[in-house]
Formats: sequence, structure tokens, C-alpha cells
Amino acid sequence: MYLKNLTLRGFKSFASATNLRLEPGITCVVGPNGSGKSNVVDALAWVMGEQGAKSLRGGKMEDVIFAGTSSRPALGRAEVSLTIDNSDGALPIDYSEVTIRRTLFRNGGSEYAINGDTCRLLDVQELLSDSGIGREMHVVVGQGQLDAVLHQGAEARRSLIEESAGILKHRKRKEKALRK
Ligand code: ATP
Ligand code: MG
Repeated sequence: MYLKNLTLRGFKSFASATNLRLEPGITCVVGPNGSGKSNVVDALAWVMGEQGAKSLRGGKMEDVIFAGTSSRPALGRAEVSLTIDNSDGALPIDYSEVTIRRTLFRNGGSEYAINGDTCRLLDVQELLSDSGIGREMHVVVGQGQLDAVLHQGAEARRSLIEESAGILKHRKRKEKALRK
């Protein structure tokens, strides 16, 4: 399984449809400050169902829609499509290629689709939940987050590792039981 294609339409600074074809292995996005590198990463998290406007570096969800520039008017919707190569069957769906699409309209309406069929956010979450690329997994490490981890104390760092490994909830439960 690997991410094969990412298309942004009206998402943040990407007013015109922008297509990024990805290959297996490591992809590097390079460019000057403010050119939209982090916006690409935001698009990836967003299409996979991210619900927190803060995680997307905005104040409200509407901020992901192209807000316009001096030469170009604002747009009414943002749309991101992510195609995942599933020829190894890692995703629990009978397609060798899966395209997830998320659309948000400025009037507040929103839509998800899997391979062109409209679906619920829950369906997207379930599709990705065991793949290691879903929301709760720490697959998107934001700019500056790495620095924060490196400068953390031992306790905080341990917490982060435990959370990533999925054992924090068990430790919390154990601590609660011992207090009783
Ligand atoms: P750096 O190297 O500094 O981290 P970057 O390449 O990661 O830069 P981004 O943060 O991805 O840059 O892009 C920032 C740009 O995106 C800013 O110019 C900002 O105005 C623009 N931008 C963000 N949201 C929107 C929006 N909704 N509409 C239009 N432009 C937007
Ligand atoms: Mg950046």
C-alpha cells in the first residue's frame, strides 16, 4: 500500500487544481517559505478525515477554502482527493486502488466519497483505521513538532511513545484502578 496521487482544488493556497503524483518510498516537497509545502501536508490529513481546525493551522474549518488574493477571488469550495494503491489488499476493500475525496462548501456543507460513492466520515475512518494511516496515528508530524519532542523531558516523551504505541490508555486505566 502506498499513497499514489493527491489532488487539491481550492484547498488553501491551491486555487487551481493541482495534481501530485507520488511514488512508493520517500517523497520530498521542497520550495521557498510560504509556497505551500505545509498546505500539502494539511491536505493529506484533511482528506483522511482530520476534524480539528487547529491541527490544520486554521481558526475554523472554512479556513481551508482558498480565501482569494489581490488578483484572484475567493472560492466557494475546497476539494482534496487522495488515491491509495491497494494492490496488496492492506485496506479492507475489494479494489486495487482506492480514492478518498473530501469536499467542503463555504455554506458549511461537506461531503466524503470513496471511489466516487458518497459516504460518511465514519466509512473513511473505518477504511483507514487498521492501516496505520488513519487520524489517531501519529503519521503526520507537523513542522516544529519534532523539535518539541526532542526538547521534552523524559516523562512527556515517554507519554508520547506510549500514546503512539496505543498503550497510554491502558496505563491510565491501571493508575485509576490502583487509586481506588
Ligand atoms: P514554510 O517554509 O515557511 O514552512 P510552507 O511552504 O510550509 O512555508 P505553507 O504554510 O504551506 O507554506 O503556506 C502558507 C501560505 O498559504 C501563506 O501564504 C498563506 O497565505 C496561504 N494560505 C493558507 N490558507 C489559505 C487560504 N485559505 N487561501 C489562500 N491562501 C492560503
Ligand atoms: Mg511549512
